[in-house]
Amino acid sequence: MSVGLVWFKRDLRLRDHAALAEAARCERAFAVFIIEPAWLQSFECDPRHVDFLLRSLAPLQIELKQRGLPLLVRIGEAVQVLESLRRQWGVTHLFSHEETGPAWSYARDISVNRWSRIQGVQWQEFPQTGVVRRLRSRDGWAARWVQRMEAAQIANPVGFRAPQGMQPDRLPTLTELGLPEVRLQPPAGEAAAWDTLRAFLGGGGRDYRRAMSSPLTAPEVCSRLSAHLAFGTISMRSVHQATELAIEHTADRELAYGLRGFSSRLRWHCHFMQKLEDQPDIEWRNVARSLDGLRPGDGGPWGVEAQARFDAWCEGRTGYPMIDACMRQLCATGWLNFRMRAMLVSFAAYHLWLHWRAPGLFLARQFLDFEPGIHWSQMQMQSGTTGINTLRIYSPTKQARDHDPLGEYVRRWVPEFGTAAYPDPIVDEKTALKYAKDALYGQRGSSTARAEADAIQDRHGSRKSGLPSTARRPPRQKMPDPGQGVLF
Ligand SMILES: Cc1cc2nc3c(=O)[nH]c(=O)nc-3n(C[C@H](O)[C@H](O)[C@H](O)COP(=O)(O)OP(=O)(O)OC[C@H]3O[C@@H](n4cnc5c(N)ncnc54)[C@H](O)[C@@H]3O)c2cc1C
Repeated sequence: MSVGLVWFKRDLRLRDHAALAEAARCERAFAVFIIEPAWLQSFECDPRHVDFLLRSLAPLQIELKQRGLPLLVRIGEAVQVLESLRRQWGVTHLFSHEETGPAWSYARDISVNRWSRIQGVQWQEFPQTGVVRRLRSRDGWAARWVQRMEAAQIANPVGFRAPQGMQPDRLPTLTELGLPEVRLQPPAGEAAAWDTLRAFLGGGGRDYRRAMSSPLTAPEVCSRLSAHLAFGTISMRSVHQATELAIEHTADRELAYGLRGFSSRLRWHCHFMQKLEDQPDIEWRNVARSLDGLRPGDGGPWGVEAQARFDAWCEGRTGYPMIDACMRQLCATGWLNFRMRAMLVSFAAYHLWLHWRAPGLFLARQFLDFEPGIHWSQMQMQSGTTGINTLRIYSPTKQARDHDPLGEYVRRWVPEFGTAAYPDPIVDEKTALKYAKDALYGQRGSSTARAEADAIQDRHGSRKSGLPSTARRPPRQKMPDPGQGVLF
């Protein structure tokens, strides 16, 4: 008898779920979510992530039960949990989605693969984004993305038959997992993901392009789908197709314009994830190895001064009000718009001259939408260690002038600004940037760095052909000459 096990990971939904559909063909089927100690103990994990997960699992478990599929929730190391389920219930097939995750999840997948071969369990994995496993070349990648995103969505499966006597597990609470309660509780789960998408496509996205850069307006005009995409409560294909339909059918030209900008970013999501898939070590190593050792914390511990700068940055007390306001908003809400994320990283990398790894881990814990492929690629881009992108150095003063001209945002998050309680600027901007540019351009201008940049462009760079029709291409980025800096 075939017994199928659906292993839920970052795909907490019913709709457009290939693993569920495949399991429906087995004579008996059930599902599991494994809460892995490797995840809970990882430097990237925060109770806010676990909370969002549990609140997404709860409605999913009910929906699955109605369809005859019990969802078990187990705490433990993946191979041990899977093996105990195999022994108890005679699992013959394992179905899951491919995951492009941190090193611990990659190592776990290798162990599960070995286990499945030894035990004769057929493990089938399905793609759920535009990321291509074992990609040989980036040529044609964008066309493949379109092909996947325009393929028919998978119908909701029904009619599962569970193994005799099996009941869904009770979900653990945060306290039972040894975690503190979380105050931040944005709507979680599949229904919330669809509500969020509908609100955005139905008009919320009208001012998207115009207002996405200011931290004052961005929370209202951005889609806020990122955590849902990261936890898979909605599929990228569902979002893409619904967006294209909305663009086609709306008579509101402003809305269509906003949605086109949004649509192209969906492709970026997968473009950045592909980088981690192709090169897992970008999590901890510079993409441009010629820049190794440049900053404190790269390849070894940093000293007390760097630690003090890092602590001030994490705690939102750098004496740069726009930086501190953004950090405080992020820590309190779990979300920040793209431009302000980039500014925070640029400040850590150039003004504070810190290697990106520790700031990246801290931000990973704050971002509810932590998605390793996007995150580590962006951390490196905004720190100037990809070797191929123009250096973007964000001036907090200019950002405040452009995006918070009346100081409303800063007053909201840094009420003590302008009083004796607020610290002086932690560094002098001019001196700090001169130091950073001299050091970085000195190394980027070498012939070794230039040769390396060509190889990096070939491996990770985006190509121009085969883009979706609605996609606005990001401007082509060229390697700046030494001495050129781009101040934003
Ligand atoms: C240093 C840094 C780290 C980041 N880390 C993450 C992360 O861990 N997870 C994450 O989802 N995004 C990350 N981003 C990208 C971006 O800031 C967020 O995707 C976006 O702010 C999420 O809000 P939203 O869903 O309302 O986005 P929208 O603007 O509404 O965009 C819709 C979707 O498009 C994708 N997207 C948008 N912008 C980008 C981008 N620049 N690169 C790749 N995909 C994009 C996301 O999936 C997003 O949900 C990071 C950006 C920076 C600068």
